[in-house]
Amino acid sequence: MKNQNASDQDLKFSDLVDVFERLDATRSGNEMIEILSGFFARVPIAVIDITSYFIQGNVVAEHEDVNLNIGERLMAEAIARASGKSREEIDQLHVERGDFGLVAELVIKNSTISGEPLTVRRVHDQLLEIAHAGGSGSQEAKLNILANLLNLATPVEAKYVVRIALGVLRLGAGTMTLLNALAVTFTQDKRNKKYLERAYNLGGDVGLIARTVATSGIAGLSQMTIQVGHPIKMMAAQRVQKLNELFERMPHGLAAEFKYDGERLQCHKRGEHVSIYSRNLENITAQYPDIVDRIRNFIRAKEAIVEGEAVALVPGTTDQFQVFQVLMRRKRKHEIEKYVEEIPVKLFLFDVLFVDGENMMEKSYPERRKILEKLVSKSELIEPASAFISDNPEEIEAFFLESLEKGFEGIMAKSCAPDSIYRAGAREWSWIKWKREYESDLVDTFDVVVIGGIAGRGKRSGTWGALLCAVYNPELDRFESLCKVSTGFNDEDLGKLPEMFKTAEISHVSPRVYSKMEPTRWFEPRVVLEISGAELTKSPIHTCGMGDDESSPGLALRFPRFLRFRDDKDAEQATSAKEVVALYKKK
Ligand code: ATP
Repeated sequence: MKNQNASDQDLKFSDLVDVFERLDATRSGNEMIEILSGFFARVPIAVIDITSYFIQGNVVAEHEDVNLNIGERLMAEAIARASGKSREEIDQLHVERGDFGLVAELVIKNSTISGEPLTVRRVHDQLLEIAHAGGSGSQEAKLNILANLLNLATPVEAKYVVRIALGVLRLGAGTMTLLNALAVTFTQDKRNKKYLERAYNLGGDVGLIARTVATSGIAGLSQMTIQVGHPIKMMAAQRVQKLNELFERMPHGLAAEFKYDGERLQCHKRGEHVSIYSRNLENITAQYPDIVDRIRNFIRAKEAIVEGEAVALVPGTTDQFQVFQVLMRRKRKHEIEKYVEEIPVKLFLFDVLFVDGENMMEKSYPERRKILEKLVSKSELIEPASAFISDNPEEIEAFFLESLEKGFEGIMAKSCAPDSIYRAGAREWSWIKWKREYESDLVDTFDVVVIGGIAGRGKRSGTWGALLCAVYNPELDRFESLCKVSTGFNDEDLGKLPEMFKTAEISHVSPRVYSKMEPTRWFEPRVVLEISGAELTKSPIHTCGMGDDESSPGLALRFPRFLRFRDDKDAEQATSAKEVVALYKKK
């Protein structure tokens, strides 16, 4: 491409850093798209993928299991070495500034070692080398590479190398902003973002999509298909207020399945190789060696992608279950085998997306269900989800009560219509959830994103007194405030909050947040909480569902109460503003 500062194969790292600085300075989502689309036009195709990962603060595609594992101590040591300062000085500056990126910018001198400027590829190669350094001596090897890299950087380049290496670069440009910008650059029309989004939902990562649209436009994108090992965005369910509504929404008939209370897993099998992804498509294979074995042994295909819910069992049983919170104790990096024993799980499979080269997503639910039943060799610890087909509301209600008796959450109604395909990344009416809470007075539970913290006083000084929470508006790619949550936290939860939000604190409101309320501190929208509430009301303060017309009132949730952290969800997977508006209208 036409970048005068770089060859066809590479890009000066300083060009990317200029863009980082401009993104960091803007508060407007539209301006971000403009900055990025202007920039993409100058990025050589050879490095457009790694450039896209860097813009997202990553080194590789999100689903790849590559970790740099650079801790604060290693970083402090590397900055000390590269700058010639002492460890004490670096630690002191870190206490004062709270960000190793700023510390590096302050102490790193303009490089005198080499006249060669750093390039995007060079930085990328070095960071990968750090990720691959293993075994004894790996800490020293990582330190050397990092210190050398910082030595070659200018002060402002060092700031960003440090933030990327620590995994704390947050520019506020979300995936949708990036896809928007790519659509503008390479198809000249923002509306074509839908083609990029489709490819993204099918498991394409931003780097692959950037490269594809840059080389072969929309035609190239439409040829992107499922690949084992590339997680597919998960389909989500709608909700209704009355059980009878299920039948109105699903005129072609429905099947009810138990709604298990565990963790959703998308399992990819290719021969002996199995990988497992969470709701937000993180690679969590290492946490579930038991499930890996079962997918290997009980899925009768060479290649397959299946989805299911892993539920914690009472040890020594195969049909007595424990709640989600127990299962979450398996979220760990160490002592995995011990926890596999202590918290055994059973996998209930409820969907199939791909088998031996064939895409199953376009098939209807009844067809997929049949394929799934043939695919799984049923055993005590893996089996298809219990399903029950009926057009009789009383029978469905009885099935719902049976689910509650077994300790599950309720039912998932699945449409049997000819067009009941698996819609990657969508929340539509071919799946509807019906939970226990819906029968009580509570409005429902919501997954909200924390956008700010209100300082605690008295008993809560030193931690956050309340958290300002928002829902997601995908049409405008922004977070709209819904409530302030201060109750429901136990002492352990409260104790965790300062550490949890330390790295999320930002000095100004994120360009993707729309809020009239001003917290003590703004946070990068990242942490998702599940909360309950008593009632939705119109509000002049909260912005949920307000739309572009700022004069109309938004919606607020009264008496919000914290239920649990949702580590398995990304901010964009929170409850949408549209869902809240729909619930309010039905009141
Ligand atoms: P969502 O996944 O809809 O964003 P969520 O994770 O908060 O939201 P719910 O809204 O309670 O969960 O319900 C959907 C979830 O229910 C699925 O993501 C899956 O983890 C779980 N689930 C349990 N049983 C089934 C089933 N039989 N079919 C589909 N999903 C099921």
